[in-house]
Amino acid sequence: MIPREVQDVLRKLNEAGFEGYLVGGCVRDMLLGKAPHDWDITTSALPEETMGLFAHFAIPTGLQHGTVTVRSGGLSCEVTTYRTDGDYSDHRRPDGVTFTRSLREDLARRDFTVNAMAMGADGAVHDDFGGQEDLQKGILRCVGAPKQRFSEDALRILRALRFSATLGFPIEEETRAALVKLKDDLSYVAAERIREELTKLLQGQDVERVLNDFPQVVGVVIPEILPAVGFNQRNCHHYLDVWQHTVRAVAASQNDPIIRWAMLLHDLGKPSVFTMDEEGVGHFFGHAHVSEDIARTVCQRLRFDNRSAQRIVTLVAYHDRPVALTEKAVTRLLRQIGVENAYALCNVKRADNLAQHRDYHGRQAVLDEAETLITRIVESDKCFSLRQLAVDGNDMLSLGLRGREIGQALELLLSAVMDGELPNEKEALLEEVRGKQLL
Ligand code: ATP
Ligand code: MG
Repeated sequence: MIPREVQDVLRKLNEAGFEGYLVGGCVRDMLLGKAPHDWDITTSALPEETMGLFAHFAIPTGLQHGTVTVRSGGLSCEVTTYRTDGDYSDHRRPDGVTFTRSLREDLARRDFTVNAMAMGADGAVHDDFGGQEDLQKGILRCVGAPKQRFSEDALRILRALRFSATLGFPIEEETRAALVKLKDDLSYVAAERIREELTKLLQGQDVERVLNDFPQVVGVVIPEILPAVGFNQRNCHHYLDVWQHTVRAVAASQNDPIIRWAMLLHDLGKPSVFTMDEEGVGHFFGHAHVSEDIARTVCQRLRFDNRSAQRIVTLVAYHDRPVALTEKAVTRLLRQIGVENAYALCNVKRADNLAQHRDYHGRQAVLDEAETLITRIVESDKCFSLRQLAVDGNDMLSLGLRGREIGQALELLLSAVMDGELPNEKEALLEEVRGKQLL
Protein backbone atom coordinates (compact mmCIF):
# COMPACT_ATOMS: atom_id res chain seq x y z
CA MET A 1 0.00 0.00 0.00
CA ILE A 2 2.92 2.36 0.66
CA PRO A 3 4.13 3.60 -2.74
CA ARG A 4 7.62 2.50 -3.74
CA GLU A 5 8.91 6.08 -3.89
CA VAL A 6 7.89 6.62 -0.25
CA GLN A 7 9.33 3.27 0.86
CA ASP A 8 12.62 4.29 -0.75
CA VAL A 9 12.79 7.36 1.51
CA LEU A 10 12.04 5.31 4.65
CA ARG A 11 14.61 2.65 3.67
CA LYS A 12 17.30 5.19 2.94
CA LEU A 13 16.80 6.69 6.41
CA ASN A 14 16.93 3.20 7.96
CA GLU A 15 20.06 2.17 6.04
CA ALA A 16 21.82 5.28 7.32
CA GLY A 17 21.01 4.18 10.88
CA PHE A 18 18.01 6.45 11.50
CA GLU A 19 14.44 5.58 12.38
CA GLY A 20 11.85 6.73 9.87
CA TYR A 21 8.08 6.23 9.87
CA LEU A 22 5.05 7.44 8.05
CA VAL A 23 2.93 9.36 10.53
CA GLY A 24 -0.35 11.21 11.03
CA GLY A 25 -3.00 11.56 8.34
CA CYS A 26 -1.45 9.18 5.81
CA VAL A 27 -1.29 6.31 8.31
CA ARG A 28 -4.85 7.00 9.47
CA ASP A 29 -6.10 7.10 5.89
CA MET A 30 -4.28 3.92 4.84
CA LEU A 31 -5.73 2.04 7.83
CA LEU A 32 -9.17 3.31 6.76
CA GLY A 33 -8.53 2.03 3.24
CA LYS A 34 -8.47 5.56 1.82
CA ALA A 35 -5.79 6.98 -0.45
CA PRO A 36 -3.60 9.45 1.48
CA HIS A 37 -3.18 12.86 -0.13
CA ASP A 38 0.23 13.59 1.31
CA TRP A 39 3.10 11.69 2.86
CA ASP A 40 4.45 12.82 6.23
CA ILE A 41 7.49 11.06 7.61
CA THR A 42 8.79 11.38 11.15
CA THR A 43 12.42 10.54 11.80
CA SER A 44 15.13 10.40 14.44
CA ALA A 45 17.48 12.13 11.97
CA LEU A 46 18.15 15.80 12.66
CA PRO A 47 17.18 18.18 9.83
CA GLU A 48 20.79 18.66 8.72
CA GLU A 49 21.26 14.87 8.73
CA THR A 50 18.20 14.49 6.48
CA MET A 51 19.52 17.27 4.23
CA GLY A 52 22.89 15.54 3.98
CA LEU A 53 21.38 12.13 3.29
CA PHE A 54 19.08 13.24 0.45
CA ALA A 55 21.39 15.97 -0.85
CA HIS A 56 19.91 17.64 -3.91
CA PHE A 57 16.59 15.79 -3.54
CA ALA A 58 16.04 17.66 -0.26
CA ILE A 59 14.51 21.12 0.13
CA PRO A 60 14.75 22.88 3.53
CA THR A 61 11.07 23.89 3.67
CA GLY A 62 10.68 24.47 7.41
CA LEU A 63 14.00 23.92 9.12
CA GLN A 64 13.03 25.74 12.32
CA HIS A 65 10.28 23.12 12.84
CA GLY A 66 12.59 20.37 11.63
CA THR A 67 10.92 19.84 8.25
CA VAL A 68 12.69 18.90 5.04
CA THR A 69 10.84 18.10 1.81
CA VAL A 70 12.34 15.10 0.05
CA ARG A 71 11.57 14.43 -3.63
CA SER A 72 11.40 10.77 -4.57
CA GLY A 73 10.37 9.85 -8.08
CA GLY A 74 7.28 11.94 -8.78
CA LEU A 75 6.31 12.19 -5.10
CA SER A 76 7.39 14.40 -2.27
CA CYS A 77 7.54 13.53 1.40
CA GLU A 78 7.63 15.96 4.29
CA VAL A 79 10.34 14.58 6.56
CA THR A 80 10.25 16.04 10.08
CA THR A 81 12.54 15.31 12.99
CA TYR A 82 10.98 13.75 16.11
CA ARG A 83 10.14 16.65 18.36
CA THR A 84 8.42 17.66 21.52
CA ASP A 85 6.71 20.99 21.82
CA GLY A 86 7.72 23.52 24.48
CA ASP A 87 5.23 25.52 26.51
CA TYR A 88 2.24 27.09 24.80
CA SER A 89 1.96 30.52 26.38
CA ASP A 90 -0.28 31.95 23.62
CA HIS A 91 -2.76 29.01 23.36
CA ARG A 92 -1.67 28.50 19.80
CA ARG A 93 1.98 27.86 19.06
CA PRO A 94 4.66 26.23 21.17
CA ASP A 95 7.21 28.74 22.41
CA GLY A 96 9.87 26.46 21.00
CA VAL A 97 10.33 22.93 19.71
CA THR A 98 12.93 20.48 20.94
CA PHE A 99 14.20 17.68 18.77
CA THR A 100 14.25 14.27 20.38
CA ARG A 101 15.32 10.75 19.42
CA SER A 102 12.10 9.20 20.81
CA LEU A 103 9.23 8.21 18.53
CA ARG A 104 6.89 7.93 21.49
CA GLU A 105 7.52 11.54 22.50
CA ASP A 106 6.81 12.67 18.99
CA LEU A 107 3.53 10.75 18.86
CA ALA A 108 2.51 12.07 22.29
CA ARG A 109 2.47 15.70 21.08
CA ARG A 110 -0.04 14.92 18.32
CA ASP A 111 -3.67 15.94 18.62
CA PHE A 112 -5.90 12.86 18.32
CA THR A 113 -5.25 9.16 18.83
CA VAL A 114 -6.18 8.38 15.21
CA ASN A 115 -3.58 10.95 14.09
CA ALA A 116 -0.88 9.64 16.44
CA MET A 117 0.15 6.40 14.75
CA ALA A 118 3.36 5.65 12.88
CA MET A 119 4.00 3.03 10.19
CA GLY A 120 7.37 1.60 9.19
CA ALA A 121 8.49 0.64 5.69
CA ASP A 122 7.39 -2.94 6.48
CA GLY A 123 3.84 -1.77 7.24
CA ALA A 124 4.10 -2.42 11.01
CA VAL A 125 2.09 0.10 13.03
CA HIS A 126 3.33 1.89 16.18
CA ASP A 127 0.30 2.80 18.19
CA ASP A 128 1.03 3.88 21.78
CA PHE A 129 -2.26 5.69 22.37
CA GLY A 130 -4.96 3.33 21.16
CA GLY A 131 -5.40 4.89 17.74
CA GLN A 132 -6.28 1.64 15.99
CA GLU A 133 -8.95 0.80 18.52
CA ASP A 134 -10.50 4.28 18.18
CA LEU A 135 -10.32 3.98 14.41
CA GLN A 136 -12.19 0.70 14.62
CA LYS A 137 -14.81 2.07 17.00
CA GLY A 138 -15.02 5.28 15.00
CA ILE A 139 -14.26 7.68 17.84
CA LEU A 140 -12.26 10.89 17.96
CA ARG A 141 -10.27 11.22 21.18
CA CYS A 142 -7.41 13.45 22.32
CA VAL A 143 -3.98 12.04 23.00
CA GLY A 144 -3.50 12.65 26.72
CA ALA A 145 -5.65 14.92 28.88
CA PRO A 146 -8.13 16.78 26.63
CA LYS A 147 -8.28 19.97 28.72
CA GLN A 148 -4.53 20.33 28.65
CA ARG A 149 -4.31 19.57 24.93
CA PHE A 150 -6.96 22.12 23.98
CA SER A 151 -5.60 24.81 26.25
CA GLU A 152 -2.11 24.29 24.77
CA ASP A 153 -3.41 24.89 21.26
CA ALA A 154 -6.93 26.17 20.69
CA LEU A 155 -6.81 25.30 16.99
CA ARG A 156 -7.29 21.69 18.09
CA ILE A 157 -10.85 22.62 19.14
CA LEU A 158 -11.77 23.28 15.53
CA ARG A 159 -9.65 20.37 14.31
CA ALA A 160 -11.73 18.11 16.53
CA LEU A 161 -14.94 19.32 14.88
CA ARG A 162 -13.30 19.08 11.47
CA PHE A 163 -12.10 15.48 11.89
CA SER A 164 -15.41 14.49 13.48
CA ALA A 165 -17.13 15.74 10.31
CA THR A 166 -14.66 14.41 7.74
CA LEU A 167 -14.14 10.99 9.32
CA GLY A 168 -17.75 10.69 10.45
CA PHE A 169 -16.60 9.93 14.01
CA PRO A 170 -18.46 11.13 17.10
CA ILE A 171 -16.24 12.86 19.66
CA GLU A 172 -15.42 10.91 22.82
CA GLU A 173 -17.14 12.35 25.90
CA GLU A 174 -14.18 13.77 27.83
CA THR A 175 -12.72 15.28 24.66
CA ARG A 176 -16.13 16.77 23.80
CA ALA A 177 -16.66 18.27 27.24
CA ALA A 178 -13.18 19.82 27.23
CA LEU A 179 -13.52 21.46 23.85
CA VAL A 180 -16.92 22.92 24.72
CA LYS A 181 -15.54 24.26 27.98
CA LEU A 182 -12.51 25.86 26.33
CA LYS A 183 -14.30 27.11 23.20
CA ASP A 184 -13.60 30.78 23.94
CA ASP A 185 -9.88 30.14 23.51
CA LEU A 186 -10.63 30.04 19.78
CA SER A 187 -10.21 33.81 19.89
CA TYR A 188 -6.43 33.15 20.00
CA VAL A 189 -6.50 31.43 16.61
CA ALA A 190 -5.57 33.30 13.42
CA ALA A 191 -8.40 33.96 10.97
CA GLU A 192 -6.72 32.00 8.17
CA ARG A 193 -6.48 28.85 10.25
CA ILE A 194 -10.11 29.16 11.32
CA ARG A 195 -11.15 29.55 7.70
CA GLU A 196 -9.13 26.52 6.59
CA GLU A 197 -10.52 24.25 9.30
CA LEU A 198 -14.11 25.40 8.78
CA THR A 199 -13.80 24.90 5.04
CA LYS A 200 -12.75 21.28 5.61
CA LEU A 201 -15.47 20.82 8.21
CA LEU A 202 -18.10 22.14 5.78
CA GLN A 203 -17.01 19.53 3.25
CA GLY A 204 -17.12 16.65 5.70
CA GLN A 205 -19.57 13.76 5.32
CA ASP A 206 -21.02 14.46 8.78
CA VAL A 207 -21.20 18.24 8.54
CA GLU A 208 -24.88 18.27 9.48
CA ARG A 209 -24.40 16.38 12.73
CA VAL A 210 -21.37 18.44 13.76
CA LEU A 211 -22.96 21.82 13.05
CA ASN A 212 -26.15 20.77 14.83
CA ASP A 213 -24.21 19.51 17.85
CA PHE A 214 -21.75 22.41 18.21
CA PRO A 215 -23.33 25.73 17.21
CA GLN A 216 -21.99 27.33 20.39
CA VAL A 217 -18.42 26.41 19.41
CA VAL A 218 -18.73 27.57 15.80
CA GLY A 219 -20.48 30.65 17.22
CA VAL A 220 -17.25 31.74 18.90
CA VAL A 221 -15.66 32.30 15.50
CA ILE A 222 -18.86 33.21 13.59
CA PRO A 223 -21.11 34.83 16.20
CA GLU A 224 -23.48 35.76 13.35
CA ILE A 225 -24.88 32.20 13.45
CA LEU A 226 -26.05 32.40 17.05
CA PRO A 227 -29.38 34.26 16.50
CA ALA A 228 -30.33 31.57 13.94
CA VAL A 229 -29.97 28.73 16.44
CA GLY A 230 -33.44 27.67 17.59
CA PHE A 231 -35.12 30.50 15.64
CA ASN A 232 -38.63 29.24 14.79
CA GLN A 233 -39.62 30.33 11.28
CA ARG A 234 -43.40 30.09 11.84
CA ASN A 235 -43.85 29.51 8.16
CA CYS A 236 -45.35 26.59 6.25
CA HIS A 237 -42.37 26.42 3.87
CA HIS A 238 -40.20 25.41 6.76
CA TYR A 239 -40.34 22.61 9.29
CA LEU A 240 -36.86 23.34 10.65
CA ASP A 241 -35.56 26.32 12.62
CA VAL A 242 -33.21 28.69 10.80
CA TRP A 243 -30.04 26.94 11.96
CA GLN A 244 -31.34 23.42 11.31
CA HIS A 245 -32.46 24.54 7.88
CA THR A 246 -29.04 26.10 7.27
CA VAL A 247 -27.07 22.98 8.12
CA ARG A 248 -29.47 20.73 6.21
CA ALA A 249 -28.96 23.01 3.20
CA VAL A 250 -25.16 22.87 3.63
CA ALA A 251 -25.28 19.08 3.63
CA ALA A 252 -27.65 18.97 0.65
CA SER A 253 -25.43 21.18 -1.51
CA GLN A 254 -22.68 20.20 -3.89
CA ASN A 255 -19.41 19.48 -2.12
CA ASP A 256 -17.65 22.61 -3.26
CA PRO A 257 -16.07 25.04 -0.78
CA ILE A 258 -17.65 28.20 -2.23
CA ILE A 259 -21.12 26.68 -2.39
CA ARG A 260 -20.83 25.22 1.12
CA TRP A 261 -19.82 28.60 2.57
CA ALA A 262 -22.65 30.30 0.71
CA MET A 263 -25.12 27.81 2.19
CA LEU A 264 -23.74 28.38 5.69
CA LEU A 265 -24.30 32.13 5.38
CA HIS A 266 -27.36 32.33 3.11
CA ASP A 267 -30.07 32.79 5.75
CA LEU A 268 -28.19 34.40 8.65
CA GLY A 269 -30.03 37.67 7.99
CA LYS A 270 -33.38 36.05 8.76
CA PRO A 271 -33.68 36.59 12.52
CA SER A 272 -33.11 40.35 12.25
CA VAL A 273 -35.83 40.93 9.60
CA PHE A 274 -38.47 38.59 11.05
CA THR A 275 -42.05 39.86 11.09
CA MET A 276 -45.29 38.06 11.90
CA ASP A 277 -48.60 38.82 10.18
CA GLU A 278 -52.13 38.74 11.72
CA GLU A 279 -52.43 35.04 10.94
CA GLY A 280 -49.30 34.32 12.94
CA VAL A 281 -47.28 33.49 9.83
CA GLY A 282 -43.61 34.46 9.85
CA HIS A 283 -42.01 36.50 7.06
CA PHE A 284 -38.42 37.45 6.31
CA PHE A 285 -38.69 40.27 3.79
CA GLY A 286 -35.30 41.49 2.62
CA HIS A 287 -33.40 38.76 4.43
CA ALA A 288 -31.13 37.99 1.48
CA HIS A 289 -29.83 41.53 1.54
CA VAL A 290 -28.99 41.36 5.25
CA SER A 291 -27.44 37.91 4.75
CA GLU A 292 -25.35 39.40 1.94
CA ASP A 293 -23.94 42.03 4.33
CA ILE A 294 -23.25 39.36 6.95
CA ALA A 295 -21.52 37.19 4.35
CA ARG A 296 -19.30 40.10 3.32
CA THR A 297 -18.35 40.80 6.94
CA VAL A 298 -17.60 37.15 7.69
CA CYS A 299 -15.53 36.69 4.52
CA GLN A 300 -13.51 39.79 5.33
CA ARG A 301 -12.93 38.75 8.91
CA LEU A 302 -11.80 35.27 7.87
CA ARG A 303 -9.53 36.78 5.21
CA PHE A 304 -10.95 35.03 2.19
CA ASP A 305 -9.23 35.97 -1.06
CA ASN A 306 -11.20 38.58 -2.99
CA ARG A 307 -12.47 36.25 -5.68
CA SER A 308 -13.81 33.63 -3.27
CA ALA A 309 -15.39 36.29 -1.07
CA GLN A 310 -17.04 37.89 -4.08
CA ARG A 311 -18.44 34.54 -5.24
CA ILE A 312 -19.80 33.64 -1.79
CA VAL A 313 -21.39 37.08 -1.32
CA THR A 314 -22.95 36.94 -4.80
CA LEU A 315 -24.49 33.51 -4.22
CA VAL A 316 -25.93 34.64 -0.88
CA ALA A 317 -27.30 37.83 -2.45
CA TYR A 318 -29.01 35.92 -5.27
CA HIS A 319 -30.11 32.80 -3.41
CA ASP A 320 -33.74 33.87 -2.99
CA ARG A 321 -34.30 35.64 -6.32
CA PRO A 322 -36.58 33.75 -8.67
CA VAL A 323 -35.04 32.71 -11.99
CA ALA A 324 -37.42 33.33 -14.87
CA LEU A 325 -37.07 30.53 -17.39
CA THR A 326 -36.65 32.76 -20.42
CA GLU A 327 -33.60 33.17 -22.55
CA LYS A 328 -33.59 36.89 -21.89
CA ALA A 329 -33.71 36.55 -18.10
CA VAL A 330 -31.04 33.86 -17.98
CA THR A 331 -28.80 35.85 -20.33
CA ARG A 332 -29.14 38.81 -17.93
CA LEU A 333 -28.23 36.57 -15.04
CA LEU A 334 -25.13 35.38 -16.89
CA ARG A 335 -24.21 38.99 -17.53
CA GLN A 336 -24.63 39.86 -13.85
CA ILE A 337 -22.90 36.96 -12.13
CA GLY A 338 -21.04 34.97 -14.81
CA VAL A 339 -21.33 31.36 -15.95
CA GLU A 340 -19.62 29.70 -13.00
CA ASN A 341 -21.78 31.52 -10.44
CA ALA A 342 -24.94 30.88 -12.45
CA TYR A 343 -24.42 27.12 -12.29
CA ALA A 344 -23.45 27.39 -8.62
CA LEU A 345 -26.59 29.42 -7.96
CA CYS A 346 -28.74 26.61 -9.36
CA ASN A 347 -27.06 24.29 -6.89
CA VAL A 348 -27.56 26.74 -4.02
CA LYS A 349 -31.27 26.96 -4.84
CA ARG A 350 -31.53 23.20 -5.14
CA ALA A 351 -30.00 22.71 -1.68
CA ASP A 352 -32.10 25.50 -0.15
CA ASN A 353 -35.21 23.85 -1.58
CA LEU A 354 -34.24 20.36 -0.38
CA ALA A 355 -33.96 21.77 3.14
CA GLN A 356 -37.52 23.08 3.02
CA HIS A 357 -40.78 21.26 3.33
CA ARG A 358 -40.90 18.02 1.35
CA ASP A 359 -43.90 19.23 -0.65
CA TYR A 360 -41.64 21.80 -2.29
CA HIS A 361 -39.11 19.37 -3.64
CA GLY A 362 -41.02 19.29 -6.93
CA ARG A 363 -39.42 22.65 -7.68
CA GLN A 364 -36.18 20.86 -8.51
CA ALA A 365 -37.46 20.44 -12.07
CA VAL A 366 -37.43 24.22 -12.53
CA LEU A 367 -33.75 24.24 -11.62
CA ASP A 368 -33.05 21.45 -14.11
CA GLU A 369 -34.59 23.67 -16.75
CA ALA A 370 -32.58 26.69 -15.64
CA GLU A 371 -29.37 24.68 -15.94
CA THR A 372 -30.36 23.45 -19.38
CA LEU A 373 -31.02 27.03 -20.44
CA ILE A 374 -27.65 28.20 -19.13
CA THR A 375 -25.89 25.45 -21.04
CA ARG A 376 -27.81 26.21 -24.20
CA ILE A 377 -26.96 29.93 -24.02
CA VAL A 378 -23.30 29.31 -23.22
CA GLU A 379 -22.95 26.81 -26.06
CA SER A 380 -24.80 29.01 -28.54
CA ASP A 381 -22.06 31.64 -28.33
CA LYS A 382 -24.68 34.17 -27.41
CA CYS A 383 -23.03 37.34 -26.17
CA PHE A 384 -23.47 38.15 -22.46
CA SER A 385 -20.12 39.59 -21.39
CA LEU A 386 -17.88 42.45 -22.44
CA ARG A 387 -15.22 39.91 -23.27
CA GLN A 388 -17.45 38.44 -25.98
CA LEU A 389 -18.39 41.79 -27.48
CA ALA A 390 -17.06 42.36 -31.02
CA VAL A 391 -15.54 45.70 -29.97
CA ASP A 392 -13.33 46.63 -27.04
CA GLY A 393 -11.93 49.65 -25.21
CA ASN A 394 -9.32 50.30 -27.89
CA ASP A 395 -12.01 50.59 -30.54
CA MET A 396 -13.78 53.16 -28.36
CA LEU A 397 -10.53 55.09 -27.91
CA SER A 398 -9.98 55.22 -31.64
CA LEU A 399 -13.47 56.66 -32.02
CA GLY A 400 -12.44 59.47 -29.68
CA LEU A 401 -14.13 58.34 -26.46
CA ARG A 402 -12.23 58.97 -23.25
CA GLY A 403 -12.25 57.84 -19.62
CA ARG A 404 -15.59 56.74 -18.23
CA GLU A 405 -17.31 57.21 -21.57
CA ILE A 406 -15.54 54.08 -22.80
CA GLY A 407 -17.01 51.78 -20.17
CA GLN A 408 -20.44 53.35 -20.50
CA ALA A 409 -20.44 52.95 -24.27
CA LEU A 410 -19.40 49.30 -24.02
CA GLU A 411 -22.14 48.60 -21.46
CA LEU A 412 -24.76 50.20 -23.71
CA LEU A 413 -23.59 48.18 -26.69
CA LEU A 414 -23.62 44.97 -24.67
CA SER A 415 -27.18 45.62 -23.48
CA ALA A 416 -28.31 46.30 -27.03
CA VAL A 417 -26.63 43.12 -28.30
CA MET A 418 -28.08 41.04 -25.46
CA ASP A 419 -31.55 42.38 -26.20
CA GLY A 420 -31.17 41.58 -29.89
CA GLU A 421 -31.30 45.22 -30.93
CA LEU A 422 -27.86 45.11 -32.53
CA PRO A 423 -25.85 42.27 -34.05
CA ASN A 424 -22.57 41.46 -32.33
CA GLU A 425 -20.56 42.63 -35.31
CA LYS A 426 -17.74 45.13 -35.18
CA GLU A 427 -18.83 47.44 -38.01
CA ALA A 428 -22.42 47.66 -36.79
CA LEU A 429 -21.32 48.45 -33.24
CA LEU A 430 -18.80 51.09 -34.33
CA GLU A 431 -21.45 52.64 -36.54
CA GLU A 432 -23.83 52.81 -33.58
CA VAL A 433 -21.26 54.71 -31.52
CA ARG A 434 -20.46 57.09 -34.37
CA GLY A 435 -24.16 57.75 -34.81
CA LYS A 436 -24.66 58.50 -31.13
CA GLN A 437 -21.70 60.88 -31.14
CA LEU A 438 -23.18 62.91 -33.94
CA LEU A 439 -26.30 63.49 -31.85
P1 ATP B 1 -5.30 15.93 6.45
O1 ATP B 1 -5.91 14.74 5.83
O2 ATP B 1 -6.22 17.08 6.54
O3 ATP B 1 -3.97 16.33 5.88
P2 ATP B 1 -3.76 15.29 8.74
O4 ATP B 1 -4.03 14.39 9.88
O5 ATP B 1 -2.61 14.94 7.84
O6 ATP B 1 -5.08 15.47 7.95
P3 ATP B 1 -2.43 17.79 9.11
O7 ATP B 1 -2.99 19.10 9.48
O8 ATP B 1 -1.84 17.62 7.75
O9 ATP B 1 -3.56 16.72 9.35
O10 ATP B 1 -1.35 17.43 10.22
C1 ATP B 1 -0.51 16.29 10.14
C2 ATP B 1 -0.37 15.63 11.51
O11 ATP B 1 0.28 16.53 12.41
C3 ATP B 1 -1.69 15.29 12.18
O12 ATP B 1 -2.14 14.02 11.78
C4 ATP B 1 -1.31 15.34 13.64
O13 ATP B 1 -0.65 14.16 14.04
C5 ATP B 1 -0.31 16.46 13.70
N1 ATP B 1 -0.90 17.78 13.99
C6 ATP B 1 -1.26 18.72 13.09
N2 ATP B 1 -1.73 19.82 13.69
C7 ATP B 1 -1.66 19.59 15.01
C8 ATP B 1 -1.98 20.36 16.17
N3 ATP B 1 -2.49 21.58 16.06
N4 ATP B 1 -1.76 19.80 17.38
C9 ATP B 1 -1.24 18.55 17.49
N5 ATP B 1 -0.92 17.78 16.45
C10 ATP B 1 -1.13 18.28 15.21
MG1 MG C 1 -1.85 16.13 6.17
